[in-house]
Amino acid sequence: MSYIPSSDRYSQMKYRRCGNSGVKLPLISLGLWHNFGKIDDLENCRNILHTAFDKGITHFDLANNYGPPPGAAEETFGKIFKEDFKTYRDELIISSKAGYTMWEGPYGDFGSKKYLVASLDQSLKRMGLEYVDIFYHHRPDPETPLEETMEALHLIVQQGKALYVGISNYNATQSEKAINVLRQLGTPCLIHQARYSMFDRWVENGLLDVLEKEKVGCITFSSLAQGLLTNKYLKGIPDDSRIGRHLENGAITESQVTPEILNKVKQLNEVAQNRNQTLAQMALAWILKDDRITSVILGASKVQQVKDGVEAIKNIDFTKDELDKIEFILRQ
Ligand code: NDP
Repeated sequence: MSYIPSSDRYSQMKYRRCGNSGVKLPLISLGLWHNFGKIDDLENCRNILHTAFDKGITHFDLANNYGPPPGAAEETFGKIFKEDFKTYRDELIISSKAGYTMWEGPYGDFGSKKYLVASLDQSLKRMGLEYVDIFYHHRPDPETPLEETMEALHLIVQQGKALYVGISNYNATQSEKAINVLRQLGTPCLIHQARYSMFDRWVENGLLDVLEKEKVGCITFSSLAQGLLTNKYLKGIPDDSRIGRHLENGAITESQVTPEILNKVKQLNEVAQNRNQTLAQMALAWILKDDRITSVILGASKVQQVKDGVEAIKNIDFTKDELDKIEFILRQ
């Protein structure tokens, strides 16, 4: 039977404007980095995407290299999109990226115009889309002139292959430069995608100020520290967890679950319980308390994790006492 989304989906989510653009994003977006590769169960992937959209999540975040193997997440998404979401294309913000190694030779990596244009063409084929809503340069390239990379983003918009462009993993200085080059070209930078969680707060040292000043949106990733900022590792490492599955390509590993981290997680879990939230919900809410953040990209391996995460938006306010307690725990 064909998929019919929940009719009350838009009453279940809140949306924030992305910088000074015309686009609003859901407070919680869904990312397909892990959990949508060839090794993953297609029906589970389908159910996760259905649940997300049913909950008002209108933004799905992909990249050329998501899998495993690289490209597989876009293929999985493309298959499900064709079967279930085609009718809803205009209700969706779909993003992809290029910047990490995709193919052999000098043209399959980093930030040349040659790589970005070819990679997006490949991504569009895999997903069965005519255009993506947002196309990102995935990481800064130390060798290619910034102007060339930004010109490639500008060209891609001119060609109608992306509606908006963004940057990811650029530091504050690099971001300011990129935003200004894009502005001069006439293609404004919509958004910056950055890692940000209670355990990784580098964006607080300058990047968020630049984005606020330049009126560029910010969407965060790994805000659950890949699952560490949930209660799942408090009693050992489940076989079906990201750590237990021994994934590669930047996935969290057992060595990161130290006694110090677990001690913090345990105490944060208590603060969350006192707020009547799960730790996952509190970790997402803690990011969203700052209205410079447009959206948090949640990763999910199970339908229940999407349902759990979305509930975070019901309480994103923190008392001073709660914030002080969290700071105290994080500084231990
Ligand atoms: P998260 O920090 O949200 O981690 C996701 C993992 O957390 C899930 O796979 C699951 O782990 C666990 N989890 C989620 N919800 C719950 C819950 N309620 N209870 C218990 N465990 C839970 O984010 P990711 O690191 O996956 O990143 C999210 C997205 O951000 C990516 O999919 C991608 O789109 C984007 N991203 C962008 C990057 C960039 O360079 N621009 C880099 C990395 C990610 P488990 O699998 O163990 O069940």
